[in-house]
Amino acid sequence: MEKILDGKAVAQKIKDELKKEVEELKQGGICPKLAVIMVGNDSSSKIYVRNKSIACKEVGIEYEEYLLDENTTMNELLELINKLNKDDSVNGILLQSPIPKGLDINKAFKTIDPKKDVDGFNPCNVGKLCLGQDTLISCTPYGIIKLLEEYGIEIEGKDAVVVGRSNIVGKPMMQCLLNKNATVTICHSKTIKLERVTKKADILVVAIGKPNFITKDMVKEGAVVIDVGINRKEDGKLCGDVDYEEVSKVASYITPVPGGVGPMTIAMLMNNIVKATKMK
Ligand code: NDP
Repeated sequence: MEKILDGKAVAQKIKDELKKEVEELKQGGICPKLAVIMVGNDSSSKIYVRNKSIACKEVGIEYEEYLLDENTTMNELLELINKLNKDDSVNGILLQSPIPKGLDINKAFKTIDPKKDVDGFNPCNVGKLCLGQDTLISCTPYGIIKLLEEYGIEIEGKDAVVVGRSNIVGKPMMQCLLNKNATVTICHSKTIKLERVTKKADILVVAIGKPNFITKDMVKEGAVVIDVGINRKEDGKLCGDVDYEEVSKVASYITPVPGGVGPMTIAMLMNNIVKATKMK
């Protein structure tokens, strides 16, 4: 019964449209540029950063990478961010998480100029999202909303449940769904009898980082299921937080992993870079 929400295809469509916008900007002598900062040697981060650089190339966005070693001090990191804040040729700054434990990621996010904060993690942009004001919105939740809209899935009035309350996915997801007039419940590791809550969801968004955690008995018949999780199995293959095989038997729509939320996140990053460039 299920329908696959093809994030890869929708992301491609968004990138194709952005490519045209970037060409127009270039004709006017403006070239959007993203600066990515990576601290340390996280192997997953390297893959994510590589995918972002490929997307930039595809869309025509200039891309610059700053690889800092794991012993980098907070002062050095903030110095680089401040330098990029002042650099007129840079339109977007992205600090890839995680960064080494001794560094304060919140302080780093706060230092990124809100107008160049293409990940939407600066408290100023998070606040604007909460107030329902136009801003740079965190790419994963924004991508999920775009995906739902692309498939004509109504959000208004629906019971939406978000599992996971991280600052980068769960919380902004809750806010995005609320801004679209869903009735939102957010769950976390201290939620008692999780399935009691997830079973009520018309729209279920899962972002916890635990392979195949959400099983068929936790999902309402006909629910729209969005799987944010990216987990690597022992055989090296990727899987989500949702048991796709089983849950797809009861869901009306479901995102695959890979090919669902991941590509949408990158497409919305491209969107935010173009938006930041235009705002300037
Ligand atoms: P975090 O580890 O920061 O947060 C995980 C959240 O899940 C926490 O809020 C935690 O609760 C909650 N949680 C953990 N275990 C349970 C449980 N048993 N029941 C209910 N809630 C639970 O993860 P992220 O939000 O950064 O990422 C989540 C997943 O999404 C990861 O697999 C990550 O790789 C993926 N991801 C994918 C992206 C994409 O583009 N597709 C983008 C970003 C992330 P508590 O707060 O109580 O600890």
